[in-house]
Amino acid sequence: MSRFAGKVAIITGSSNGIGRAAAVLFAREGSKVTITGRNSERLEETRQQILAAGVPEGNVNFVVADVTTDAGQDKILRTTLDKFGKIDILINNAGAAIPDSEGKTGTAQSIENYDATLNLNLRSVIALTKKAVPHLTETKGEIVNISSIASGNRATPEFPHYSIAKAALDQYTRNTAIDLIQHGIRVNSISPGLVATGFGSAMGMPEEVSKKFYSTMATMKECVPAGVMGQPQDIAEAIAFLADRKASSYIIGHQLVVDGGSSLVMGLHCQDFSKLLQ
Ligand code: NDP
Repeated sequence: MSRFAGKVAIITGSSNGIGRAAAVLFAREGSKVTITGRNSERLEETRQQILAAGVPEGNVNFVVADVTTDAGQDKILRTTLDKFGKIDILINNAGAAIPDSEGKTGTAQSIENYDATLNLNLRSVIALTKKAVPHLTETKGEIVNISSIASGNRATPEFPHYSIAKAALDQYTRNTAIDLIQHGIRVNSISPGLVATGFGSAMGMPEEVSKKFYSTMATMKECVPAGVMGQPQDIAEAIAFLADRKASSYIIGHQLVVDGGSSLVMGLHCQDFSKLLQ
């Protein structure tokens, strides 16, 4: 039997990248899915990929919504309950390193950028989770938050607001994991490294520059020791593992790093020691 047969999953940020790959995977493996994002054309592309995988149309709930708004969060939950009658799995994936409106980086980034970045990457997760908890309590459900290796104890000086938001999200994952397990709800998170998605474009990079960035990074083993760029499917498989109680029931509040080894190498390691020691 399919891994997610009979389950209902909400996957935020499924109009692109990691969320889209997760939505296609969950739907292919039997789950009914709510797919959602602001861009209806890109969301339609996700729907088409799901249908092309042989999934019945009735298993897809298509919701154009801004997850940072109360109205958007309510629409995501209400339409899911109206169409499918329950919620088993919440994947809090929508996120971005929102560019500063004046192109500033580092400490020069505006406080408006701080508000927008925290609103998307942290507040919307907290708000949607709070609203979903009564329904997840009924099903003894699963939450998977998508964080980033940028949250770790290394500096990301160019985009401080993004990494601050993800660091706070990690603490939220740990706190909710312990608070909600008493209701039978498991909470875990994934920390992706570099993954080729729309993330670069959402940061304001032109499409070509974004592609070049990913392909160049993949050749730099001091940045990505695995020597290949992460693909959305790599993260989707990890999300599915943490959302599948049969596979991961004893894992609570875990931060699963999926980064091709990036977070294990230090600046020091960027040097070619064999040359330095000659
Ligand atoms: P993409 O830009 O490809 O996808 C981001 C998704 O988030 C899109 O579907 C976008 O939809 C949605 N989104 C953004 N803002 C909103 C909003 N206000 N309301 C609703 N949906 C929104 O990037 P990724 O797939 O890479 O990002 C997914 C997650 O992975 C994010 O949380 C990101 O921080 C994290 N991550 C990504 C990494 C990478 O290298 N790619 C590395 C580490 C973490 P739309 O534009 O239609 O609203």
